[in-house]
Amino acid sequence: MGSIGSNLQEVRQRIARACAESGRDANSVTLLAVSKTFPAEAVREAFAAGACAFGENYVQEALAKIDALADLRARLAWHLIGPLQSNKTRPVAEAFDWVHTVDRLKIAERLAAQRPADLPPLDICLQVNVCGEDSKSGVAPGELPALAAAVSALPHERLRLRGLMAIPEPTADLQAQRRQHHRLRDLFDALRANGLPLDTLSMGMSADLEAAVAEGSTLVRVGSAIFGSRG
Ligand SMILES: *Cc1c(COP(=O)(O)O)cnc(C)c1O
Repeated sequence: MGSIGSNLQEVRQRIARACAESGRDANSVTLLAVSKTFPAEAVREAFAAGACAFGENYVQEALAKIDALADLRARLAWHLIGPLQSNKTRPVAEAFDWVHTVDRLKIAERLAAQRPADLPPLDICLQVNVCGEDSKSGVAPGELPALAAAVSALPHERLRLRGLMAIPEPTADLQAQRRQHHRLRDLFDALRANGLPLDTLSMGMSADLEAAVAEGSTLVRVGSAIFGSRG
């Protein structure tokens, strides 16, 4: 692995190549740098190299980092991409810009109620279980339309439903990766066809971002390819 700066540049080149191969504008894909388990100083280094959106999985760890990087707060966005329990929604509503892992109406209701009125609306994605395993979090595809309708009826000045997110089964097979991403893309297109103004398809990580971009991802969540292995 190189430095965080050179890794970031390589990831940006991978995204640009993948976009070019599918005839997409390289600016149509947002890079979310996943900084979980890495210290605040690594985030600072990535920020200095041009990253401005960071993904975290664990609420306590993220809050400590957000605090340590308070001087940068206005210039970067914090995204929660890990599971969210209902007893943790308040600090998340108060400290984050995005939550990608909403999979129940109750969580969305609490986030909307707890989002401070002086902040912009919290942007959220619904997490979908695209591989149908019981152990995984995420709403089942069949229950997605009802959940999306209920969430989008919550007060828009507190909560904005922006799109969908999934964590597919890891596989090295590019075609299998694409099939899983394609499933999420189909669900996204169906909700949009029904009139929901979604603009964010959060899919693709270090190992499968090319497949995700080919299937229409607008936001890739990349950790190890930027910060190194989490050991
Ligand atoms: C850790 C994590 C990532 C980043 O994974 P890498 O393989 O390190 O790129 C992306 N999304 C979610 C939900 C994660 O938990």
